[in-house]
Amino acid sequence: MRAMVLDKSGQSLQLRDVPRPKPGRGQLLVRVSACAVCRTDLHVVDGELPNPKLPLIPGHQIVGRVEDIGEEAESKFKIGDRVGIPWLGWTDGECVYCQSNRENLCDHALFTGYTIDGGYAEFTVADARFCFHLPDRYNDVAVAPLLCAGLIGYRSYRKTGGARRLGIYGFGNAAHLIAQIALYEGRDLFVFTRPGDIAMQQAAKKLGAAWAGGSDEMPPEKLDAAIIFASVGALVPAALRALAKGGIVVCGGIHMSDIPSFPYADLWEERVITSVANLTRRDGDEFFEIAPRVPVQTRTETFSLEQANTALDRFRTGELKATAVLVMGAE
Ligand SMILES: [Zn+2]
Ligand SMILES: [Zn+2]
Repeated sequence: MRAMVLDKSGQSLQLRDVPRPKPGRGQLLVRVSACAVCRTDLHVVDGELPNPKLPLIPGHQIVGRVEDIGEEAESKFKIGDRVGIPWLGWTDGECVYCQSNRENLCDHALFTGYTIDGGYAEFTVADARFCFHLPDRYNDVAVAPLLCAGLIGYRSYRKTGGARRLGIYGFGNAAHLIAQIALYEGRDLFVFTRPGDIAMQQAAKKLGAAWAGGSDEMPPEKLDAAIIFASVGALVPAALRALAKGGIVVCGGIHMSDIPSFPYADLWEERVITSVANLTRRDGDEFFEIAPRVPVQTRTETFSLEQANTALDRFRTGELKATAVLVMGAE
């Protein structure tokens, strides 16, 4: 099968003909139809995340059809079913985190397209227990970005509790999806973009944001919560200063530049800073239940498998207008 392979961090992916994987116990063999590109893929390829499996097939927002089922796979899928494969690929089920409904923090978790092979390929294998059925209302390309930007964005959003006034720093793919759910649930939305990015601010207002401005500005009122999707550490103290008492800053990314120091007074009065790591299967079940009701709309730009490096380069330089999705079998 054809696959785009990372041999070494910091290098371009190589188009290879590699053996089709065989489904082991409990695994599905999936014929990939679409795989959305996530910022995390960039962090993996660029070497900003430690110890990837090498050589590696990246990609963790995978949509495909079940082609074959390994021995003892759970019966929730049958051959021909559409299936979604997310970032969380496997957990041990027995560590203290797994035993306390926090499998996202599992000591031995394996991650799709990072520590196990992912979906920049014609086929992949995945543990059936971590795969999702996907809502019928979406086609394969449209649903692909929901598998990470949607899911981990949703986990970040849930961490804000019942926050009425919600700030979002960085209006990229995850932010755009989560903003739709926040508005659907009646939150007042305040969107922070790169200073001077008027087009993005207008897009946020058009979507329904109460206010949109630069990340160097203060919102017109204090916020109950802020989610930071941009990988810029300086936004953490900025967001903290925008919070009302008891507010929370949620860092939704897997990688961030260093956070500058700030006075304790900015954290005082029970303000909280937290990160969000990975996802649980429950996050996925909840998200795929609410997304089609909103309905959350995705924006996509398609590329062929061979164009994966182009998609990554455009992501890195900010040239993408929407979520890049690799479509298998496309020219
Ligand atoms: Zn565990
Ligand atoms: Zn991701």
